[in-house]
Amino acid sequence: MRVGLFGGTFDPPHLGHLVTAVNVRHALGLDLVVLMVANDPWQKQGRREVETAADRLAMVQAAISGVDGLIAGDDEILRGGPSFTADTLAGLAKRYVGAELFTIVGDDVAASFGTWQRADEIAKLSTLVVVDRPGSPMAPPSEFVWNRVEVPRLEVSSSDLRARFTDGRPLQFLIADGVMQVIRDRGLYGVKK
Ligand code: ATP
Repeated sequence: MRVGLFGGTFDPPHLGHLVTAVNVRHALGLDLVVLMVANDPWQKQGRREVETAADRLAMVQAAISGVDGLIAGDDEILRGGPSFTADTLAGLAKRYVGAELFTIVGDDVAASFGTWQRADEIAKLSTLVVVDRPGSPMAPPSEFVWNRVEVPRLEVSSSDLRARFTDGRPLQFLIADGVMQVIRDRGLYGVKK
């Protein structure tokens, strides 16, 4: 079995995440891509308020609903505390015994991979995959071996979507309908229930 780990804060999940996940799955012939919701995104801490892990998980579940080969991961939420990819990979290796694992990141994230906790362990446990990410043509650190996958470049980010909730610009087509429904039902991003 070939299993991809695509971790993120997903605050909120958007079409860039989904297009990336399905294209990497196709390009590398993965059986599954797990969109793993970070419990405590320690790398983003202190910069802004993040929606709760439970709300972000519900949005990811809605985003991947009915999409073949994508699943939402709650391992990091169940583990609690700060999320470390090396621990998450170890958990996936136990669940999918004998599976080949792939760690998928956008190039903005890949650029700072050297600063991740236990980066060497991540590189040992999985094949590193970097996808092109709009607006951040950054080179991943060369001491690691990277598999490059091209995906359609979509100029969309969670930050931009959060700004749109604030200033009222349209969100239509940038965010899955099911995700929008969760946002309305739970009153996230200042949207009235
Ligand atoms: P924020 O704008 O809040 O920083 P984000 O849009 O980068 O959020 P994350 O949940 O932090 O979303 O990202 C999870 C993963 O998805 C990262 O590896 C990131 O590089 C990748 N990613 C995010 N947006 C895109 C996109 N439009 N195309 C390709 N990859 C993306």
